[in-house]
Amino acid sequence: KAKAGSKVRQSDDVAALPTLSSPGKLLFPTDRISKQAVWDYYLAVADWLLPEIAGRPLSIIRCPAGIEQPCFFQKHLTSGLERVATVKLKEESGANADYLVVEDLPGLMELVQFNALEFHPWGSHASDPERADRVVFDLDPGPDVAFSEVKQAAVDIRKLLDQLQLESFLRVSGGKGLHVVVPLNPGCDWELSKRFAHGFADALARSQPDRFLATATKSKRNKRIFIDYLRNGRGATAVASYSMRARAGAPVAMPLAWSQLARLKRADAFSIADVPAMLKRRRKDPWQGINDINQDLSRWSQDE
Ligand code: ATP
Ligand code: MN
Ligand code: MN
Repeated sequence: KAKAGSKVRQSDDVAALPTLSSPGKLLFPTDRISKQAVWDYYLAVADWLLPEIAGRPLSIIRCPAGIEQPCFFQKHLTSGLERVATVKLKEESGANADYLVVEDLPGLMELVQFNALEFHPWGSHASDPERADRVVFDLDPGPDVAFSEVKQAAVDIRKLLDQLQLESFLRVSGGKGLHVVVPLNPGCDWELSKRFAHGFADALARSQPDRFLATATKSKRNKRIFIDYLRNGRGATAVASYSMRARAGAPVAMPLAWSQLARLKRADAFSIADVPAMLKRRRKDPWQGINDINQDLSRWSQDE
C-alpha cells in the first residue's frame, strides 16, 4: 500500500523502470552532457537521493530541450506519468490539485525520462503535508560577496542555532550559496516554522546589518547576504541534496559535514562528473542521523 494521501499503483508492471528515449539528446549542450548521462547520474545516486525526496510533495525543473532552452518548474501531475504517486493538496486559490510524489526508483527515473533535471521537495511529507519537519536557511549572497563570507555566515548561523539547542546541517546549493538545514522532530505547522525562520533572519539582519539582510529585494543585496527564510512557508521548496542543477557544468547540491566547510572553494564545487565516484569512496553520510534528532520549535509556539 502506498503512503496515506498518495495514490496506490494500479498495476505491478509499471514498477519497472521506464525506457529511456532520446539518450543522445544533449541536455547540457555546452558541456556535451546527454540525457543518457543525466539518467546514469540519477541511477548512480538514487540510494542517496531517494531518502531525501521519497514521500514528499515534489517540484521538478524540466528542461525538455536542454538547459539552454526554456525550462519550467512543475509541481502537479501531468499526463504520461504512471510511476509517480500524487497527493491532493489545497492550492492558495482554494482549489485542490494533484501534487507529484516520488516513492521509489521507477518514479524518480520516470521523471528523468521526462527531462526532469532538478528535484525540489517540500519540507513535509505527503502523509502529513501541513507539518514541516525541516527548516531551511538559504544563504543568498549579493553579487559583491566573497564565498569566504558565505562560509563564515553559515558557521555563525550554526552557532546561533546551537545556542537555541538546534542542531543543523550544511549543504552547498550547487549554485552560489549554502543551505543550513534544521531537522524538526516532532515537526510543526508551517505558520510556526515560517515565523521562526523569519524571526531568526530578522534578528540576524538587525544585529549585523552590514553583513545580512532579511528582505528579498535583490537591488539591496550588493555586499550582503540575504537570509532567505522564504523556503519555509507552505508550498515552498528547496533543492534536494544530490539533485543536479540545470546550470552550466551540471553542478550538484551536496550535503557536507561541517568539518568540510573550511576547505570548500565554491558552492558549485561538485558536479555530476565527480559525485558518483565520491559517494562510492565516502565512508560516512555527512547527514547521518538527521532524521533521528529530537528537537522542535515548541518553545516559540507561545509567542504572538
Ligand atoms: P543558489 O545557491 O544559487 O541560491 P538555490 O537553489 O538556493 O541556489 P534560490 O534561488 O536561492 O536557489 O532558491 C530558490 C528556490 O525556490 C529553489 O531552490 C526552488 O526550490 C524554489 N524555486 C525555484 N524556482 C521556482 C519557481 N518557478 N516557483 C517556485 N519555487 C521555485
Ligand atoms: Mn539560494
Ligand atoms: Mn533563495
